[in-house]
Amino acid sequence: MTSQSPDIKITLQSPVRAPSAVPVDDAVLPFEVDALDLRGRLTRLGPALDEILTKHDYPAPVGKLLGEAIVLTTLLGSSLKFDGRFILQTRTDGPVSFLIVDFKAPDRLRAYARYDATRLHDGLDTGALLGKGHLAMTIDQGPDMSRYQGLVALHGGSLEDAAHEYFLRSEQIPTRVRLAVGEEWRGGDGGKHRWRAGGMLLQFLPKAPERARQADLHPGDAPEGTVAHEVPDDDAWVEGQSLIGTVEDVELLDPDLSGERLLYRLFHERGVRVFAPVPLRAQCSCSREAVSSMLKSFSPKDRADMVKDGKVVVTCEFCSSVYEFTPEEAEVE
Ligand SMILES: [Zn+2]
Repeated sequence: MTSQSPDIKITLQSPVRAPSAVPVDDAVLPFEVDALDLRGRLTRLGPALDEILTKHDYPAPVGKLLGEAIVLTTLLGSSLKFDGRFILQTRTDGPVSFLIVDFKAPDRLRAYARYDATRLHDGLDTGALLGKGHLAMTIDQGPDMSRYQGLVALHGGSLEDAAHEYFLRSEQIPTRVRLAVGEEWRGGDGGKHRWRAGGMLLQFLPKAPERARQADLHPGDAPEGTVAHEVPDDDAWVEGQSLIGTVEDVELLDPDLSGERLLYRLFHERGVRVFAPVPLRAQCSCSREAVSSMLKSFSPKDRADMVKDGKVVVTCEFCSSVYEFTPEEAEVE
């Protein structure tokens, strides 16, 4: 009988390996850079994003904006550990007056935007498309749990800016976010167009919380002469911000560059640990039964008003599915 050598151990940490060259779409890749106390997530979206945006045939600027909101939602919502829901919405006075992204853990995504086509023109950036208003992020953990809602004012900036402000005010975790959405053309001029997106979230989470202190917000109506409290960023976080600052849109979107390769390219000098990808898919939660019971919750008069050409037609705003009912089915008297 031989005893096992004490040197043979099964380690709990994954062994060091080369970054996978295989690109994975429609997934979030969590990662850690221990040497800098950084944690993050990288999202790559292909077919799922294309399915959501193509169902509505959005004008390009609206598709790009909604794509950014979808990527941001995956970066924030994919950390939900429960069977919960993360909803991101904007209500603003710009050409895109309303958008909503609904993420249901662990993997379901749906989204839509309302816009005024007459106010759209070339060259409108995210800030101009949204205008002024607010961004709301709601975490719903189920019927017996409290809902959490965070609000950020929007005043003509990008969704990245809004995310930074949210983390500074609400979570007080040093955070940087990058979002990119692009259109990929395959097969030349007459070829097919597809939406792609990518994004990265990087957070500084040191064990000693005082290292994560950030400069105070603008003192607002403090007496004149008050000096803002300046806190220099921790060296590790300075390095983290400069690394994520080098990520280019094309790298986030490149269908041939795997997420692992991209993370290795950025963080290899410090060592990066990558966890298993979390898959995402486009799927609406609407159903004929749900629409039918919604109709029955309306007043008899409202139901009667919905009858057009001898039928009641309801279109799901998220996925454009059309549900048709006879007046009898809709219980119209
Ligand atoms: Zn639907």
